[in-house]
Amino acid sequence: MTSSARPPARLFGGIEAGGTKFVCAVGSGPHDLRACRELPTTTPAATLPAVVEFFQAQAAQAPLSAIGIGCFGPLGLDPAGPDFGFITSTPKPGWQNVDLAGALARALNLPVGLDTDVNAAALAEHRWGAAQGLDTFVYLTVGTGIGGGVMCAGRLLHGLVHPEIGHMRIPHDLAADPFPGACPYHRDCLEGLASGLALAARWGAPGPTLPPAHPAWRLEAHYLALAAANLVCALSPQRLLFGGGVMRQAHMLPAIRAELLDLLHGYVQSPALLERTDEFLQLPRLGERAGVLGGLALALQASQP
Ligand code: ZN
Repeated sequence: MTSSARPPARLFGGIEAGGTKFVCAVGSGPHDLRACRELPTTTPAATLPAVVEFFQAQAAQAPLSAIGIGCFGPLGLDPAGPDFGFITSTPKPGWQNVDLAGALARALNLPVGLDTDVNAAALAEHRWGAAQGLDTFVYLTVGTGIGGGVMCAGRLLHGLVHPEIGHMRIPHDLAADPFPGACPYHRDCLEGLASGLALAARWGAPGPTLPPAHPAWRLEAHYLALAAANLVCALSPQRLLFGGGVMRQAHMLPAIRAELLDLLHGYVQSPALLERTDEFLQLPRLGERAGVLGGLALALQASQP
């Protein structure tokens, strides 16, 4: 029998850069994650050297091809802009105007891909998860905050800066819902009305403690269906992936699907939407790992010419 040994998989470094921790991993995909380390997000001067040290130690064992970072924003993503690769105007103290991609590229001497955490998660879902084979879809996470990533015609959408789906304005009937909204910038934008934080503030109890029949959920489904309808009309996505802590309530998806169809009122004629609604609006598949796998997917992308 001849040897069928395959060449070793190319290895990548993935980073999920969050407000409280940097999750760093090395591997080639979801079934090949070889090392993972969580480092606290303190200051750039403390966190970034720790990140570099982790990847240097990994690279000493087996070389890495590239690093990818899915990061909290806002980020400079215009290759022609002076702040390309930077975390820009974040409210997180100490992290404004930090050259994140540049610092890691110089320290590790590797190509570095950077995008928003939600665009990164969208890319991972495209490569390994619930959006395989599609070229235009939206990934939305509804947790403490709300964020969305968009792939449009096979590319992550940047444009002016990058999508800020969580801050889209949606109709707010103050008679039905007098809660003023929780967003420090806009009060009653989508995130201000429908994030986990808003839900807990409105009802005086965290979402997971509210039973499925609680009116909180009907209102929540209403706001998320409005967002879904806007996304369908604005972007013509082939699929919507709604995840995050709030979507762990199993009754939410069916409620949002039903109201989405009501809101669109037959105007958008597509069997994928009308006949396969369960597939059209579904949960992401990579779960908790979408973030760090998003970093790996960005690294894969960065390693390609
Ligand atoms: Zn807002």
